[in-house]
Order: sequence, then C-alpha cells, then structure tokens
Amino acid sequence: MADKKPILIDGKQIAKDIKEEIKKEVAEILDHGQRPPHLVAILVGDDGASLSYVSSKEKQSQEVGFTSSVYRFPESISEQELLETIDFLNRDNEVDGYIVQMPLPQHIDARKIVDKIDPKKDVDGFHPVNVGRMVLSLPSYIPATPYGIVTLIERSGIETEGKNCVVIGRSDIVGTPVALLMSRKGEHRNCTVTLCHSKTQNIKELCLQADIIVVAIGKPEFLKADMVKEGAVVIDVGIHRIKDNSEKGYHITGDVDFENVSKKCSYITPVPGGVGPMTIVSLLTNTLSAYKHEFYQE
Ligand code: NAP
Repeated sequence: MADKKPILIDGKQIAKDIKEEIKKEVAEILDHGQRPPHLVAILVGDDGASLSYVSSKEKQSQEVGFTSSVYRFPESISEQELLETIDFLNRDNEVDGYIVQMPLPQHIDARKIVDKIDPKKDVDGFHPVNVGRMVLSLPSYIPATPYGIVTLIERSGIETEGKNCVVIGRSDIVGTPVALLMSRKGEHRNCTVTLCHSKTQNIKELCLQADIIVVAIGKPEFLKADMVKEGAVVIDVGIHRIKDNSEKGYHITGDVDFENVSKKCSYITPVPGGVGPMTIVSLLTNTLSAYKHEFYQE
C-alpha cells in the first residue's frame, strides 16, 4: 500500500457533473413552459468572505438556469426588519428557496432568524424542522457541506457499510450532520461513527482505528500521517489561506497534512478542489428539490 498512489477524490469534476444534471433538468422544466427555480440569498453587511460566497452562489445558480437574487442590507439593519424580509420571502410564491448568509451582526439573534424561515424554503437545512427530519431519516434539506461530503463518498463508490468512521469536529453545520448521516441506515451509510471534538482525549488512537476520517476542525494540517492507518479514506473539510513567499503571497491548505497523509490513503480529497466545490452544488440540488416540492406537500 505504501507505494500505491491514493485516488484523489475530484470534487471539481463531481460538482461539474451534478451541475450538468441540474442544468438538464431545468432545461426540461423550461421546455414545458414552466418558470425556472428561484434561489434568493440574504446578505447583511460587507464581510469579504460572505460577499464572495454569495456572488458564487448567484453565478452558479444562473449557470444551471435558475433565477437568483440577492437581498443586500447594511450592517445596521434591525432584527425586526430582517424578520419582516423573511416573512415576505416565506409568502412569495415565486421564491422556492432562500438562504441567510452567516455570520449576522452581533445585534441580530441568528437563531431567531433561522427559526423564522419556512422549513419548505430552508435550502440551507438549518431550520430545526429540517434538522429533526434529518435525524429521523425523513426526506429533508441536508446542510450543503455535509451533503457535499456524503455525495463525494457516494459518487466515488467508497464502501461504507460496517466501516469505522471518525469525524473530527462537531459543529452544527459540518461535523455533527456528517457524523449523523454516516451512521444512518442505507446505501453509502451504515458506518460505526465516532465524533471527536476539542475535549476528546485520544484522537490519535481513535483515528488509527478508522477506515474513513472526516476532518472539520479549522486547524491547518492537524491530521498527520502517524494518525492514519494504511488504506484509510480521508475527507478534508478545512480551508486555510496560508501566507507564503509565492507570487500570489499565499497558498490554500486544509485540516490535513496532505503531502504525508496522502501516502497512506486509499482515497483523499485535495484542498482546494475536494469538498469546497461540492458545497454550492449541494445548495443548488436542495433548491431544485424545493422547486419540485420533493420533501413537503403544499
Ligand atoms: P467550527 O464551528 O469552528 O468547529 C470546529 C470543531 O472542531 C469544533 O467542534 C471543535 O470542538 C473542534 N476542534 C477544534 N480544535 C480541536 C482539536 N484540537 N481537536 C479536536 N477537535 C477540535 O468549524 P466548522 O464551521 O465546522 O469548520 C471547520 C473547517 O471547515 C474550517 O476550516 C472551515 O473553514 C471549513 N469549512 C469548509 C467548508 C467548505 O465548503 N469546504 C464549509 C464549512 C466549513 P468543540 O466543539 O469542542 O469546540
């Protein structure tokens, strides 16, 4: 195994394939004289990362044939005004799904905002109704990054049944849903899952038992080669911009020491080009499901 090259999980290509599938479906919808799916993003303030994320969502929505719009608000918007906007979007029959870009300013209670979203339009899958449905294995919107991760595993044909899966990081938007999904019954699931966090005592020992490791902790190159058994599958969720002396002045790295860990893996996601491209495409998939009322009746 040591000299064998790992299979790189090509998130870019898988995301492109899924976008093509969505585009085809939207073209058929238009051929039938129906309106296209419509995705809205609410953006508060001018945080650079949020701006670029929302503009990518807008661009990619349009690439697959959706209509999309962005509701931009200044940092000073009140919680009440934002709640009223959400109420308006909940009632607008031309809006299939919408997201509220996080983080929100300190004076706004993000929980209150998310709770106000109509679960039928909650394509980020953060509303408690959708989280509850996911826990119960009922059809629901799965948060975009975890959805992207399980789709990568599925589409790469990685065997999961009965495998030990260690997830490092327990955030509500990545680690916890990934751990839950991998432990559910069903094809490409059925793992025995261990969810690690900052209080876990023996991460190295647990990782050494793992057939699949998903790392989402936000610490550059945290997972080292001596924590990984030969032939393991490693999914790296982290994204970090590290300053260097290159022309660009930085390079991108993940939560995994890719250079050394990859030598031991059967499959591994690169950063960039692994999990990252799957996130927006999963949001598009959720929006198409919302348009088709796949999970909720009218
Ligand atoms: P987060 O909310 O900061 O959560 C980090 C988790 O890691 C927490 O559960 C924390 O434990 C745990 N942790 C921190 N240090 C640890 C340690 N030394 N040992 C074990 N566990 C530790 O992060 P997140 O939002 O899930 O994001 C994680 C990474 O994924 C970040 O790099 C982020 O940029 C990236 N990300 C990428 C995408 C994408 O599209 N590719 C999407 C979302 C996030 P506690 O709970 O005990 O504090």
